[in-house]
Amino acid sequence: MEKSLFSLIRKYGISGPRYTSYPPAPVFSKDFGAVEYKDAIVQAEKNPENVDLSLYVHIPFCDTLCYFCGCTTIITHNRTQIDLYLQYLKKEIDLLAPMLNQQRKLVQMHWGGGTPTYLSPRQIDELSKYMRRFFHVDQHAELSVEVDPRELTYDHLCALRQNRFNRISIGVQDFNLKVQHAVNREQNELITRQAIDWSRTLGFTSINIDLIYGLPLQTVQSFSETLDKIIDISPARIAVYNFAYVPWMKKHQKLIRIEDIPSPETKVKILMTTIEKLTDAGYMYIGMDHFAKPDDELAIARRTDSLHRNFQGYSTKANADLYGLGMSAISHFGTTYAQNAKTLSEYYEAIAGGTFATHVGYRMTSDDEVRKFVIMRLMCNLSLNKIEVEGRFGINFEEFFADSVANLESLSEDGLVISTPTHVIVTSLGRLFLRNIAMCFDKYLSSGARRQHLYSQTV
Ligand code: SF4
Repeated sequence: MEKSLFSLIRKYGISGPRYTSYPPAPVFSKDFGAVEYKDAIVQAEKNPENVDLSLYVHIPFCDTLCYFCGCTTIITHNRTQIDLYLQYLKKEIDLLAPMLNQQRKLVQMHWGGGTPTYLSPRQIDELSKYMRRFFHVDQHAELSVEVDPRELTYDHLCALRQNRFNRISIGVQDFNLKVQHAVNREQNELITRQAIDWSRTLGFTSINIDLIYGLPLQTVQSFSETLDKIIDISPARIAVYNFAYVPWMKKHQKLIRIEDIPSPETKVKILMTTIEKLTDAGYMYIGMDHFAKPDDELAIARRTDSLHRNFQGYSTKANADLYGLGMSAISHFGTTYAQNAKTLSEYYEAIAGGTFATHVGYRMTSDDEVRKFVIMRLMCNLSLNKIEVEGRFGINFEEFFADSVANLESLSEDGLVISTPTHVIVTSLGRLFLRNIAMCFDKYLSSGARRQHLYSQTV
């Protein structure tokens, strides 16, 4: 059994997207800029259906560089930069908010980074209050924020709670000290536990912990010990991300000794141990990399097939239009994707000139819409109803996806999916190769050479 699993890892361990969007971000084009973004908002506002709003706010600053980092960050000790950044964020809000119907409810907001808690409690309060002047926050809104326990104070959490944040996402990655040292992120277990105790005391309703497997010096045993500690902490949600090693795109990852990175076989053993331990501890395996307690909204959404995938991973807010604010932030509504400039200077220059800072974007075709639906169904529901797809899009599934169906045959022979005349069902084994399954339906992966340089390894 183990031997055949390893041969599957060798076969399917290739570069591929994580499908937080379809098409994936490398397909976005510079032909789509601020003018096109503004037009798309105007068009979206003509939609008589008053859909809810979701906001993503990017705070790019961090104090130190974690060598595994794949985010768009600025490492700085100069905290005076933040007030300037907040001024520009406010100007971007001034551009966006008047274009949106004021009746729309803000049902979800996420502050990510970088490190949002690089902001001081005063700055958190100031930005939150400014946003509430423009956006009508629904009483059941999910307001979430990523925190770094290494810099967090009780006052940060008070400021967040006072501004109605109710969900917190804590980066841990791994409790093992050797692993922490190898990735330049030394984070004492006690400060993580303290951050969680404070969050619970203050009434945050949902606590998420982020872990990463595939980091240097990790072993099945060492990661297993980290998992035991996480189970003891008992967060509502646990995200266990596959380390995206892409040193050709993130040059600082060259600081990691390649010989210290676990082999694909060890990584899969770590993932299988993770699934076993967390499900034994009562967590539900949600999809590619998320686990949740059975009464958590994410688990409920998984059971009721209402799970949604976006740039932050899995979400329960399927129908909200997403607007991104800040450097590198991505928006997605209707058929539009738009990403802001990835450098501060370009972002500031555009906003100072009174225009959006859109750097790249994309308008989906009808073909993209069908494929997005199919890929997201597989990523979220782990199954696909072909009859539903045919009814929704007026296509003949087997004809429209003739190439995909042919590609799936080999995955079916390997036991990753079960194909019936009406369904494609991901097997337990197939969950380990979910990205590979979704890739069968991706029109933009025809050039293998191109793919190798754009994405991380699927397993
Ligand atoms: S704190 Fe997060 S965003 Fe900042 S460098 Fe580390 S991993 Fe990257």
